[in-house]
Amino acid sequence: MQMGIGTVVHKNSLETNYLRIWYPNSEMANAFALAELGDSAVHRYAQNLQVELPADPINVHLFGSRLDFERAADLHTRGASRSAPGFAKGSEVFIRVLPLPRQTVAGDQGMLECVFVHELCHALYQRLFPVFRLAGMWLTEGVAEAWGERAIAGPDAYAAQRHPWYATAFHLVREALSAGALPSILELQTRRFPALPHYERFLRYSMSFLLVRMLESLHPANAARRELFGGFLKQICGLKGPPIARKARADFNALFNDPSAGPLEEGLRQYVSEEKICPWHMFGWDVRVLDEGVIAVEAADRDDAIAFHAQEVYTPQLELRANFEVCRRGICRAHLAFGRTSWNSHYCVAFGPGSISLIQYDGEFRLLERRYVSTGLSRAGVHRARIVVDGSHVEAFLDEESVFTYRKTDGPFPAGQWGVGASGGRLLFWDVAQAF
Ligand SMILES: [Zn+2]
Repeated sequence: MQMGIGTVVHKNSLETNYLRIWYPNSEMANAFALAELGDSAVHRYAQNLQVELPADPINVHLFGSRLDFERAADLHTRGASRSAPGFAKGSEVFIRVLPLPRQTVAGDQGMLECVFVHELCHALYQRLFPVFRLAGMWLTEGVAEAWGERAIAGPDAYAAQRHPWYATAFHLVREALSAGALPSILELQTRRFPALPHYERFLRYSMSFLLVRMLESLHPANAARRELFGGFLKQICGLKGPPIARKARADFNALFNDPSAGPLEEGLRQYVSEEKICPWHMFGWDVRVLDEGVIAVEAADRDDAIAFHAQEVYTPQLELRANFEVCRRGICRAHLAFGRTSWNSHYCVAFGPGSISLIQYDGEFRLLERRYVSTGLSRAGVHRARIVVDGSHVEAFLDEESVFTYRKTDGPFPAGQWGVGASGGRLLFWDVAQAF
């Protein structure tokens, strides 16, 4: 079968109950791996919406290269979704297989699956209730992410306890809360997300997700509000035309915000602080927690993926160890990160083939020191890495051999979160532990 989308040609298609998945040869395994999840997600969304299942399948396009995805984004969104991991347009779904096209494996529930179910939710709304996309991103994005999580969770109610992708929304909002920098719900509803800087945008996506998640909470005490929110969504879907965003905001605030008590703002703060979630905060691209406590991190060539442990390190001393396996070819680096004090501030030791580097991230990556070694990382295989940070001094060990030391001249390294990560490939970490 052949189908042209602009200059992009998908050679193969796979038909499921509710989807037609178009994929290049390189992504055949991923197309099949996503099929069942996609069907169960659509089934679940249709139930939520109390509508018949779609008679015509939803088209899903998987892209096995950055270039092909960018061409599709240019064609369908005038480039607006170029750097997104996926988008939905005209009730079709477009997914860039990330972070490593031709290598990323669907099935162990990471970013690819989370993005896929999110975009499917948008696509179903676009087909059945096209007016909904005008309701405001705080609502459309919140619903897509909250419903996506429930689709990923399957028989479990939620997925944030095991998935860094969903837990990271909590970590971000918690950090903004403790810094006194969380926008109000009204601000969330009135600022346009795409115009905002990366972090602000990400924070608002996260907040929208958690707001909807809270309103739809399965907790018995939330039954009445859950039903009220369901009715509100239905009513928005039934609106005939603009100004839908204004109407959605006004109706929502009249329904859920009792101005005398301000229960929604306070309720959200409490909800976000109390939920049990996975401790790993995902930075950059993909972080997955596999069974048996194994953490998979995966990032493309010039990208980073780091799993930060959300537990703070309060002392300037840290000993961090981890075992890891390099499981993809290419110039892959293993990272042990430390001293994360905010969204855009951390250090990391990068163990590469032939060199060890110390990198500072403060919104941009700066190389502080690179040491060339004869016994670096092998391209595939199991290694043991360790760093010791003591005041202004850091020492790194690879396979029990001291391979790197550095002394910071302008005072001690800051105390903060630590983590494990990768760039340019896929690594599996286990027995990650800190001493001191
Ligand atoms: Zn979205």
